[in-house]
Amino acid sequence: MKILCVGRNYAAHAKEMGGTGKEEPVWFWKPESAIVGDGEPVVVPAGVGAVHHEVELAVRVGKAARRVAPAQAVRHLDAATVAVDVTARDLQQAAKKAGNPWAQSKGYDTFLPLGAWQPLPADLQAVRLRLAVNGQARQDGSTSAMVWDVGRLVAAASAWTTLVPGDILLTGTPEGVGPIVPGDAMEAEAVGLARVRSPVVAG
Ligand code: MG
Repeated sequence: MKILCVGRNYAAHAKEMGGTGKEEPVWFWKPESAIVGDGEPVVVPAGVGAVHHEVELAVRVGKAARRVAPAQAVRHLDAATVAVDVTARDLQQAAKKAGNPWAQSKGYDTFLPLGAWQPLPADLQAVRLRLAVNGQARQDGSTSAMVWDVGRLVAAASAWTTLVPGDILLTGTPEGVGPIVPGDAMEAEAVGLARVRSPVVAG
């Protein structure tokens, strides 16, 4: 099983990260060992610097996909939920600057809170994504603002890697990312679909 993620799939978030909002989306991975469920803590390692939340729609592959067309791609999915792409932002920025991969900044244990899998919603491009920290709204966006919609994402991924049942795709985050620190209570929701609550603790 692999967890394939896309960055810069919402123009407003690309801009808040210092981009133009016109860059092509970019692929990266998170490891399976990063997954935690509802109620399980996100552990912030000592000395890692800023750690940010990124609420995202996650979709799961139900049927193998290789070089599928965007119009057919969603048929290869069988479930969706909410995810938080937790990111060690300082490490990621340093990696970007040095031209190094994002593996470590994205891949710490517990850096992927994932809600319970649900049947696909009727419209994958009309899902409201919200994230609150200590009850205060931080992110509130819609999958309608994706640069590449889910069908195009699955098609684009399947053009270079075979997607197999159980694979997970994280589809990018809307704007409003920000820091989480030990002691925080984070709650992410794909409205009407799933939510995941994560106490943040020091590691
Ligand atoms: Mg992300």
